[in-house]
This record gives sequence, C-alpha cells and structure tokens, in this order.
Amino acid sequence: MKGYLLLLLLMAALAGKAQQNFDTVKIRPLKVTDQIYMLKGSGGNIGLLTGNEGLLMIDDQFAPLSVKINEAIKSISQNPIRFLINTHIHGDHSGGNDNFSKQGVIVVAHDQVRERMKKEQVNKRLNRTTPPREKEALPIVTFPDKLNFHLNDEEIELIHLDRGHTDGDVAVHFKKANVIHTGDAFVRYGYPFIDTSSGGSVNGFISSLDKLLAMMDDQTKIIPGHGELATKADVKTLREQIANIRDQVAKALKKGKKIEEISSLGITDKYDEKLGKGFLKGKDFVALIAESLSEK
Ligand SMILES: [Zn+2]
Repeated sequence: MKGYLLLLLLMAALAGKAQQNFDTVKIRPLKVTDQIYMLKGSGGNIGLLTGNEGLLMIDDQFAPLSVKINEAIKSISQNPIRFLINTHIHGDHSGGNDNFSKQGVIVVAHDQVRERMKKEQVNKRLNRTTPPREKEALPIVTFPDKLNFHLNDEEIELIHLDRGHTDGDVAVHFKKANVIHTGDAFVRYGYPFIDTSSGGSVNGFISSLDKLLAMMDDQTKIIPGHGELATKADVKTLREQIANIRDQVAKALKKGKKIEEISSLGITDKYDEKLGKGFLKGKDFVALIAESLSEK
C-alpha cells in the first residue's frame, strides 16, 4: 500500500506541475469586509488587510504570479505592502517570498517554517526533494506560539496550531473584523492533505480544527487555505468527518488489520461524493491516516 499511495501522490503532484500554466492564471480579489480581501489565483488563498498604515498580506502563491498578485493588490489599495505572513512552508503558499522581500516586504512565519526552508526538504511520500530556499525567501520574523500585529485599527493574532497539516501551521485571526485565515489547517478541496514528512499528523489536524473552532462564532468569516469563503459550520463538519474516519481507522488498526485491508473497508464511502474529488481519494486518505496513526 505504501508504494501504491506514494505512486498515486507522485502522479498527482507531477500532473499538477505539468498542467500548471501561470500565464493563464487570473488573480481574483473578493471583498470579505471593508478592510479585508481574499485573493484567489493558483495555489493557496491570499488574505489582505488594507488601510492607511500599510498592507498586511497572508500567503503569496507561486513565484511566477508575484507580478500579477502585486497588480491585483494595487487595484485594491495604493498603500505599500508592509508584512507578508506565511501560513506554512508549502510552495503554493510561500513561493513568491523572494519577490516580495526584495520589494521591502517583511516576511513573517512560525519558527519551523524558517528552519525547514533553510534545509533541503525530503518528502518521502511524494518522493520529492525541495532544495533550500534562497536567503531572500526566508522569513525574517519568526515566533514559536503567538504573535500580535496592531495595524490599521485591527488587532491581528497569529496562532501556531498543532502538528496537523505541517509542524509550522499558523492561523491568522483578525479579531475586530471576526475573520480567520486558516492556512491549510482547513481546506475545501476535499480530503485534506496531512504532510507527515513536514511534521503533520491526523491527531494534530483534528486538534488544530478544535483550536480554530474555539476562536469562531456563527458570524466568523473563514478564509480557507484553498477553496471558497467558509463558515464555522463548514469547519465543524470537516472536523466531524475526519474524526469519524480517524476513529474507524484506529479501531481497525487495534484489531491488527493491515493498512491495505483498512483502505478496502469502505470507511469513507459516505463521504467520497463530497470529499473524494480532490487531491486525495477516500482510500488514499484512509491509508494516509493509518500511516499517521502508526507513526510514533
Ligand atoms: Zn499546504
């Protein structure tokens, strides 16, 4: 099963790369509140806080899109971008770091994001090696747990989540506006990817969703790592689905079942129509969870 899953994910990763034509990508801004925008393009959703004291952006997609992202932001506000927060290490969220830091933007992330970016990253699951990032791409402000920004009359809290999607996941909470950018701790592309090679785990993924839910009410506007704007109910639903799958996989592991047996139990059947059309199919997600639970 390990080899099968690896091959599948490798194919998905390669297909994603081959199909990636950045020339045709359009950056589309969506107004979330008077001051906050979400920008969609290719890669993770970008968050943007506007105001006279300068702009704060969250994630920057892929490097070839930096010019277009700058243009889209200019169309919203002429004020300069001052800060760029990376929600985690992945290149579809931090690929443009070099470009933005060269234009004077201060890049901010969790300690682990900088540590991992400095070194070659070997992703066993995707059989992919990512070389260390350029010095200009490294966050120059890092933090272990929490960091606050006080900008444009907004109170912004960066919160390090548990080891879920990766070990450097950060959510950005705009407290006055009641808006949260979750990074890939919450996504809407189907079964979420748990990057165990970057320190992620299924239990951490679920406990991170619990932390996020505790910060939300029914009015909270949620900018997910990928996909459309969401509500607390959407986050709650995903949390319940993943926890249910995790519990069934854990039970099967306890009975001594092998990962390939567990994948064929049909645990995700009732979720596949909604969640199985993205990056991961149900049985791949089950295998991923089984491997995560088997890791010590
Ligand atoms: Zn990611």
